[in-house]
Formats: sequence, C-alpha cells, structure tokens
Amino acid sequence: MSVTERTYIMVKPDGVQRGIVGDIISRFEKRGFKLSALKLVHATPEHLEQHYIDLKGKPFFPGLIKYMASGPVVAMVWTGLDAVKTGRVMLGATNPLASSPGTIRGDYALAVGRNICHGSDSVENAEKEIQLWFPEGVVQYTNDNEKWVFE
Ligand code: ADP
Repeated sequence: MSVTERTYIMVKPDGVQRGIVGDIISRFEKRGFKLSALKLVHATPEHLEQHYIDLKGKPFFPGLIKYMASGPVVAMVWTGLDAVKTGRVMLGATNPLASSPGTIRGDYALAVGRNICHGSDSVENAEKEIQLWFPEGVVQYTNDNEKWVFE
C-alpha cells in the first residue's frame, strides 16, 4: 500500500451509454485520488480478450467480450493510497445485487452482465492493465491537493 499505488478503472459501454461517466470520475476525484490517464476508446474484441484473458473458458466469456465491444469505454488510471483495494470497494461486488447502496454498482446496476464499471483486482493486474490500455504511458504531474488529502 502506498500513495503512489495505481489502479485501472474502466467505465463499461453500459455506463457510457447511461451517462454515468461523470459521476464515476467525480467519486474518484472527491475521494482524493489523482487522475493519471483517461481516454474514450471503442476497443476491439482482440484487445478485450487480452484484458479478460484470465476468464477465457468461462461460459459467459463470449457474451462478456460482445458486451464490452458493443460501444466505447472510458479507460482511466487513478493514483493514491491503497488505490486498488479502495477502488474495488467503491465499485461494489461483481454481482450488483450483492453490492451495497453507496457503491457504484449498488447505486446503478442490477445485472452481473451489465455492471457498469471495471476495477483492477490486484496491484499486479493493475500494472498489466495499465500497460495494455495505456502503452503510451500515463501523465506524471503533482496534484497540489495531496497535502490536504494525505498526512
Ligand atoms: P470483476 O469485474 O468484479 O473483477 P470478474 O473478473 O469475475 O469480476 O468478471 C469480469 C466481468 O465478467 C464482470 O465484471 C462481469 O461483467 C462479467 N461476469 C462475471 N460473472 C458473470 C456471469 N456469471 N454472467 C455474466 N457476466 C459475468
């Protein structure tokens, strides 16, 4: 856990179509995380298969790739203390029905196959996903907010 920990957060096609992008960005900003990279991208099935390589072989895999390739996603990198674990808590459970109100999925979703957003599940996977989605690298800058967010 460190203040420079990074996580890969992605608004899925349903989140983009339903106009929830701004709210998701706002939640991460207000929590105190620093935006390190952001882009709107209509990913290819091949790229998405790479992203979800660990799930290849699951019965829902073909449907997942089709859903994720059905429209643009918003790819982001957020940096801050315990970013990976805290990001997952902010997202809620994989199945929105098991997500508490106040989480993104708990506030906006009902179906596991339309659960609005993605967040890395480990620091190792976060670094892999950041490399996959931002091979050009992320933006390095100082956020003056940090002295008010961290001790
Ligand atoms: P998470 O996104 O919470 O890390 P997983 O890595 O297990 O969860 O699954 C990746 C994505 O695959 C989920 O966010 C969801 O969109 C989809 N998914 C997972 N399980 C199912 C399922 N049983 N049916 C349909 N889609 C699923």
